[in-house]
Amino acid sequence: MATAIDVPPGQAVLEAENLSVYYGSSAAIRNISIRIPENRVVAFIGPSGCGKSTLLRCFNRMNDLVPGARIEGAVRYRGADLYAPGVDPVEVRRRIGMVFQRPNPFPKSIYENVAFGPRINGYRGDLDALVERSLRQAALWDEVSDRLHESALALSGGQQQRLCIARALAVEPDVLLMDEPASALDPIATQKIEDLIYELKKSYTVIIVTHSMQQAARVSDYTAFLYMGELIEYGPTDLIFTNPRVERTEAYITGRFG
Ligand code: ADP
Repeated sequence: MATAIDVPPGQAVLEAENLSVYYGSSAAIRNISIRIPENRVVAFIGPSGCGKSTLLRCFNRMNDLVPGARIEGAVRYRGADLYAPGVDPVEVRRRIGMVFQRPNPFPKSIYENVAFGPRINGYRGDLDALVERSLRQAALWDEVSDRLHESALALSGGQQQRLCIARALAVEPDVLLMDEPASALDPIATQKIEDLIYELKKSYTVIIVTHSMQQAARVSDYTAFLYMGELIEYGPTDLIFTNPRVERTEAYITGRFG
């Protein structure tokens, strides 16, 4: 059973209750309950294979796309059951956007990458302004404003990842899920992503999966430690890293296993 240390009460933006996910007959996560507060950054940490990505993907129904995946328990977004009949997973993913480990821009121009989502959603406002705003929010505008119509694939890896963040922001989401967003990047590009996450939480709720404890300590307000499919401990990041309540958390953060 997870120990939760004064995670703020009140309505959570996202909430899992007794959530288990199975791939075929084996459980990847078991009985996880967690609340994600608004305008905060929450990090999921734990050794490889402990279920961080699986848990993350439940929050925008990405596991629906994994053959053989099945969930038990509840996931709520602002109080509404995300898995209720009639809920459109495409709309869920618009509100709860996702950024993946490897930057995956479309083989299109920088502009078209950002304009793509709003266009399919029938956006009727000023698309140029939306593209600029999204690129500014992703801290990329100054680097690309003079070459918006060049291929996104010519950008560096770090720029491509910020472009993917701009693309996610362009559909005006509420939450961003990030699955190891900097693990394929060099240290300078990583720092830009971390600075950006810090800025983003003013307007968005962010959940980040990271295998880097240093990164979790730098960017997150709350940290959840998972181990073998269970949520072991969840609380304010400074407490988790300085004064964890559970022995296994301490063993992990002090590097005794991992
Ligand atoms: P983490 O993100 O912490 O590395 P994952 O959520 O990726 O962990 O994986 C948790 C467990 O679920 C692992 O045992 C992994 O092998 C298994 N798993 C993950 N994705 C799949 C999948 N698509 N099919 C079958 N098993 C999977």
